[in-house]
Amino acid sequence: MRVAAISAHQRLDLLAEQAQQVEPRWVVATDAEAAVDRDWKDLPANCELLTGTEGLTKIVQHEQIAVVVAAIVGSAGLRSTWAALEAGKIVALANKETLVMAGPLVMELAARTGGKLLPIDSEHSAIFQAMQAGKRSEVRRVVLTASGGPFRNMTLEQLQDVTVEQALAHPTWDMGPKITVDSATMMNKALEIVEARWLFDLQPEQIEVVIHPQSTVHSFVEFVDGSVIAQMSPPDMKMPIQYALTWPDRTASVAVEMDWSTAFSLDFEPADYRRFGALQLGIDTARAGGTAGAVLNAANESAVAGFLDGQIGFADIVPACQSVVDNHPFQPQPDLETLIDLDHWAREEVFRACT
Ligand code: MG
Repeated sequence: MRVAAISAHQRLDLLAEQAQQVEPRWVVATDAEAAVDRDWKDLPANCELLTGTEGLTKIVQHEQIAVVVAAIVGSAGLRSTWAALEAGKIVALANKETLVMAGPLVMELAARTGGKLLPIDSEHSAIFQAMQAGKRSEVRRVVLTASGGPFRNMTLEQLQDVTVEQALAHPTWDMGPKITVDSATMMNKALEIVEARWLFDLQPEQIEVVIHPQSTVHSFVEFVDGSVIAQMSPPDMKMPIQYALTWPDRTASVAVEMDWSTAFSLDFEPADYRRFGALQLGIDTARAGGTAGAVLNAANESAVAGFLDGQIGFADIVPACQSVVDNHPFQPQPDLETLIDLDHWAREEVFRACT
């Protein structure tokens, strides 16, 4: 296995540093303006620089590339993921927003081109692994585990006063700011419900959420005979990333191993849909299909950015998203351009919903 290309948007010093480590054939700086302001003398010999999102869509279709790891945050990841599937690549998908926005279109594209989507999102990787214990038609339902985030035990009143610093301190996962805030609001789980619906072709009624603070069981698949298969591993993203890269094989792990030499217990509790309104919004969005996912995703991305900037409160995020989803011009079978237009609209609209 060899890294052929890596990309970054604005963290270009880190990109160059990683290029020195893995010596790719290409690096892509998607922020073309930022790329021009840099001298790039620190790139390894024979490493070619490409810029802009065009550079990215070109490279993911290159004949020498077999697997594309799609890990751009948010709807910005849609076009390059789309391009990779168009070229029939295996896409290891860390970008759940692509499926939330355009699940039916993306799955249809993959089916048409022979491209394959393998989940990196830990819950979906767990479901993908556990589903191999039976036939697809034998699945009764899937149960997504949720850590509950840092505010699992807070009351509705306490949730009103959450600060940016509190929201960014996740108890079990060390992740980027957007997904960490999404974990705190439980919007991450809402997006994962929608992601699971399209990725595994499930009905919304077949998707449950259970709170599991230790983040050790990554999800369950329940079969028609009542047997429940779980996938377990310590909370370390290296495991699902590696599985997507080596699938259908397994290779020796670079991830943290389970420690069976000390006693431990695992807790599971029902999810509180009243305190965490995002969960119901996720189920409703998965059921509605059409344009609802793209609108929810964009409203949330924009609201989270607004919260991190101090423009809106933590407790405003979910109700504002709900309002934008409820009031958008719904279409049951949108094309990609309609979804992208609605994405832009929802980003503005969510701030109007806050005032
Ligand atoms: Mg996840």
